[in-house]
Amino acid sequence: TKLVTDIICPFCGTLCDDIEVEVSDDGKQILKVMNACAIGAEKFLHAQSPDRIVRPRMKQEDGSWKEVTYDEAAQYTAKILCDAKKPLMYGWSSTSCEAQATGHMIAELVGGIVDNTATVCHGPSLIAVHDVGIPSCTLGEVKNRADRVIFWGCNPAHAHPRHMSRYSIFSRGFFTTKGSKSRKVIVVDPRPTDTASVADYHVQVEQGRDYELLDAMRVALQEGPLPETVAGVPKEKIYELARLLKSGRFVTIFFGMGVTHSLGKNHNIDIAIALTSDLNKYTKAAIIPMRGHYNVTGSGQVLGWQFGFPFCVDLSRGFARYNPGESSANDLLMRGEVDASFVIGSDPGSHFPFKSVKKIHDLPSVCIDPHMTPTVAVSKCHVPVALVGIEIGGSCYRMDNVPIESRKVVDPPAGMLTDGEFLELVLAEVKRIKGVA
Ligand code: SF4
Repeated sequence: TKLVTDIICPFCGTLCDDIEVEVSDDGKQILKVMNACAIGAEKFLHAQSPDRIVRPRMKQEDGSWKEVTYDEAAQYTAKILCDAKKPLMYGWSSTSCEAQATGHMIAELVGGIVDNTATVCHGPSLIAVHDVGIPSCTLGEVKNRADRVIFWGCNPAHAHPRHMSRYSIFSRGFFTTKGSKSRKVIVVDPRPTDTASVADYHVQVEQGRDYELLDAMRVALQEGPLPETVAGVPKEKIYELARLLKSGRFVTIFFGMGVTHSLGKNHNIDIAIALTSDLNKYTKAAIIPMRGHYNVTGSGQVLGWQFGFPFCVDLSRGFARYNPGESSANDLLMRGEVDASFVIGSDPGSHFPFKSVKKIHDLPSVCIDPHMTPTVAVSKCHVPVALVGIEIGGSCYRMDNVPIESRKVVDPPAGMLTDGEFLELVLAEVKRIKGVA
């Protein structure tokens, strides 16, 4: 057997880069995955799954699948995109930056809408960053320096299982040599989560009232007046927390969908960022969104380089426009404003409302995904591809915007293309149809 080291885990935005994998001598089989959490290890092991679909398929009239070649799948994909007035090209968060860049070239040629999974997770955070900027830092700085850590509306114990041990609670860094004993950890969540159970403080904010509590924290930093309770939290507790944060050397606020998708949305993040800026008058403070898919951050970066906006990019008029709410995938599907669906590296079938999923089912549609997902089940064409970070390398961005190169560990099944290769086929076909050199 061979040991492959320093691999990144292509599952969540923590992008752990210390994974080790034991592979068979012929380099074809993963035998053992070391250092990954249960969900990360499962992603690697799924590459070996005996029920893995290895060839593109088209859905037949009777609902059964018929195997087709990659060329035929690329021709179908190019045709539905070119025939459509406003094709939706959604997903992108579980593939490499290189594949994203190729896909965006196709979108530009066909006048599509390019949107990523931020539209249903950290889109409000991106809007807040446009409004007020963001004082942030890297996870390495958190590990080495942070002695006050807040998790607001997120539960890394379940969603990012190694985040706490590698960076934010238990890790020992240069100035945090005692690990969790070097830190005070605060969880703000209406529920008693598993992350809350390992924190020093659990602040049970009332559901949907995060804005008020964040505002009260800003007042408390200045020892200003507060009512007896704010959002269900007694004022003494709020003053205590404010003093605790001010007394730290380095504060980091991590936040998740508990604040981005509850009442207030992007305004919750505006004020969380404002609280972070206020804290910088007393100590050093930074704020980081807990990004979900392993390369959703990269999708925002690549869209940013190419079109100037991180999600919800509408190219239907031949130039980039950006108006979340108008040009966001779910809203477009709900309103029936798109006439073809192209999904890559995500699963709206699991996350979008029924009405949107039904729309994908009714439209000409293609889903590029190594796995069998609910989106695959409602699509007309399924293109299985090699797993990025396991069967092909590529650039990815961690949740703190640090780019990390993923590595190939084993060969993909014989004859299987990567998503980058498939997108190149589609791009060539689109150019042929459009008569572009
Ligand atoms: Fe993979 Fe995330 Fe688990 Fe790290 S925490 S091993 S990146 S799933």
